[in-house]
Amino acid sequence: MDVERKRREERETVREIMKIYCRGHKHRRLPGADLCPDCQALADYADVRIGKCPRMAVKTFCSVCPIHCYARPEQALIQEIMRYGGPRMLLHHPIMALRHILIQWRTRHGLRKQEKIR
Ligand SMILES: [Zn+2]
Repeated sequence: MDVERKRREERETVREIMKIYCRGHKHRRLPGADLCPDCQALADYADVRIGKCPRMAVKTFCSVCPIHCYARPEQALIQEIMRYGGPRMLLHHPIMALRHILIQWRTRHGLRKQEKIR
């Protein structure tokens, strides 16, 4: 699996979910911007975290990763955004959402199998 491609896809997915959240909450965006300044700052932060992730090759998405490398306030906010935007991704970007669900399911399933062996 191409790690850099995965990284890029994760960034895209996070960004799309944040757009849904930002629009859904009617944040004030500058003309031509996808995100309001606050969400933009958080998206930039997530970009950096994803860029530095040491487990990109083995993990799937931050939501199923055992290491929570986001700092506390950002982590809570990102979780809230994912809870809001995740289900709505099925309407806006069904293929992207399905891929995400499939990978997540496979990881959870795989992890459970490993636990049984131990
Ligand atoms: Zn916003």
